[in-house]
Amino acid sequence: MKKKKLILVLNCGSSSLKFSIINPDNEICYLSGIAECLYLNNSQIKWNCNNIQYQKLFLNPMSHENIFDFILKKIFITEKAIFSQVVAIGHRVVHGGIKLTSTTIINNKVINEIKKAIIFSPIHNPVNLMGIQLTLNTFPELSKKNVAVFDTAFYKNIPKKAYLYAIPYYLYHDYGIRRYGAHGISHQYVMYQTSVILNKKINQLNMISCHLGNGSSVSAIYKGICVDTSMGLTPLEGLVMGTRSGDIDPSIIFFMYKKLKISINEINTILTFKSGLLGLSNISSDFRDVESQYYINKKAKYAVDVFCYRLKKYISSYISLMNGVLDGIVFTGGIGENSPLVRKLSIDNLSLMGLISIDEEKNNNFKKQKNHFINTNGSIPILVIPTNEELAIAKKTKKCINVQSIQ
Ligand code: AMP
Repeated sequence: MKKKKLILVLNCGSSSLKFSIINPDNEICYLSGIAECLYLNNSQIKWNCNNIQYQKLFLNPMSHENIFDFILKKIFITEKAIFSQVVAIGHRVVHGGIKLTSTTIINNKVINEIKKAIIFSPIHNPVNLMGIQLTLNTFPELSKKNVAVFDTAFYKNIPKKAYLYAIPYYLYHDYGIRRYGAHGISHQYVMYQTSVILNKKINQLNMISCHLGNGSSVSAIYKGICVDTSMGLTPLEGLVMGTRSGDIDPSIIFFMYKKLKISINEINTILTFKSGLLGLSNISSDFRDVESQYYINKKAKYAVDVFCYRLKKYISSYISLMNGVLDGIVFTGGIGENSPLVRKLSIDNLSLMGLISIDEEKNNNFKKQKNHFINTNGSIPILVIPTNEELAIAKKTKKCINVQSIQ
C-alpha cells in the first residue's frame, strides 16, 4: 500500500493540547483529539479515530508533558498504521514577534525568536515552545521537519496607520510596541472558505471576519489583505473574551494601582484571568454557562450585552474600511459558530439602510441546515463558517516543507 504523507498538527494552549493527523491534500483527518483542564483535578482527553470517539478522565492533574506521553504511549502506539505515515509536524505558534512573519521550518534561531516574543504573548508562546521541544526530543528523525505556523503572520501587511499606537514613536521603533494581531490562522482560513463560498477571487474579497471563542478577535480584510484587527500588542486588546478584558482605558491600571494598592502583577492577573465574561458575570468564562442565564441573571445579561455591543462597534468601524464594497461578514469560533444570540445582538440594527440584516430563522437553524448564509434576502451576505485551524496548519506545513526542501 502506498504510504500517505500525513502531517501531525500540535496546538498547545495554556491548559489544553489539541492534536491531529491530517492529509493536507485530500483534507482527511485520520486522528484528532483534545486534552483539556490540564494542571487541574479534572484533566481529561477526548480523541476520535475512524469516527470512533474515545475519552479518558484522569485522577490527577496532567501537565503538557504527561498528556503528550499518554498520547504517544496510548494513542499513537495503538494507531501505529496512521502515525507511521507522518512526515512532518506543524506547530501553532501564536506570536512570531518582530522577525517571524511567515511559516518556517524550526531551528535554533527560530526557537530563539519565539522565545523573544514571549513578552508579547506570555500565556501562549511558552506552551507553544513546550510543544516544539516535546516533538523535537521525541521524534529526532523528524527534527528538520518541524514547522512553525504563526497567528501573527496574517497581519504582516496591516498598514502602519493601523498598527501604530499614538505613544512616543521610539517605543515602536526601539521596542517593537505595535499592534500584532492574533487568531490569524483562523481568520485566513475563513477568508479562503468565504472566497470559495461567494465565488469571489481572494484579491477582490472585502470582508469582516469575527473569530469568537475563548479568545476573540475581529479582522477587516480588504482585497484579500488584512488591513486592521482588534488584537493588539498582546492578545489582551479588543473584544471581550472568556477571562480577558479586551479594550480598557489604560488609566484603569493606574487607578487600580493607586486606589487598590495592588501590584502590577496582580493587575495583570485581573485583566488577563479574572475579567471578560467571567469578571462581568461572576458565573463562568465559558460562554455557554453565561448565555444560559441571559434571561434570568442580570450579570449574565450585562456580560453578553457588553460582549455583543463591543463586537458591533468593531464591525461598524471596519465597514468604513471597505471603500464602499463589503462582500460579507463571517462568524466563526466556538461562540461565533454556535450562538444565534451573539450573531443577532451584534448585527441587529447595524445598517441604517437595511443592507445588513439577519434572517432570524436561518440564524436560529444554522446548525440543522448547515447553510452558511444567515442574512435576509437583499442583505449583504452574513455567513457562519466553522473554522479549521488544524487543517490550515497542515496545509501550510506541507507547503513549507516542499518549498524549503527544494531550496
Ligand atoms: P473556542 O475557543 O473556539 O473553542 O470556543 C470556546 C467557546 O465557545 C466557549 O466559551 C464555549 O462556551 C463556546 N461555545 C461552544 N459551544 C457553544 C454553544 N453551543 N453555544 C454557545 N457557546 C458555545
